[in-house]
Amino acid sequence: MTQILALDIAGNPFRWLDIDRAIRYVATGKVAWSLGADPMRFFGGTQRATGLRSELDVPPVIALAKSEGMVRHARPIPLGDDNDPLFRRDRHMCAYCGGVFGKRDLTRDHIMPKARGGRDVWGNVVTACRICNNVRKGCRTPEEAGMPLLFVPYEPCVFEGFLLVGRNVLADQMEYLAARLPRHSRVLAA
Ligand SMILES: [Zn+2]
Repeated sequence: MTQILALDIAGNPFRWLDIDRAIRYVATGKVAWSLGADPMRFFGGTQRATGLRSELDVPPVIALAKSEGMVRHARPIPLGDDNDPLFRRDRHMCAYCGGVFGKRDLTRDHIMPKARGGRDVWGNVVTACRICNNVRKGCRTPEEAGMPLLFVPYEPCVFEGFLLVGRNVLADQMEYLAARLPRHSRVLAA
């Protein structure tokens, strides 16, 4: 399902919108500026006076008018229960053996195990294959298990976070967010 990337007026990602919501923003003039050469065109009903069908172009990236107050919402994406954003941050690579796996063979590993007070936050979790996590590492730290991390976990910035949770991200949206990623980001690294 296509989503529209909504920004605040300063260009910070605000929310992924479903199409219906985006159409409402465009139709009611709540868009301050927009990006994307290839808007999606939607048709409404026929106007009685003119006999013409109304039409509306919805750009892939829209900045909402009167959104100055939203800037405070542009904070990093929380680490939820869904593992997809974590696996995407780590490019589906196990942090211990370096293998690249499908979703079914991957787990969320807590570097400092939860049972020992490790927190469920971006900075304490990495993608690990089932064997490395459940069989080899178990309830130990990487040091105790003799399993050094192949890469360092980090909290995605807001731009990276939107890429990680986006579904079917369009080219213009990808371009906007990717241009603002920090250098350490691995999300789009080749
Ligand atoms: Zn592994």
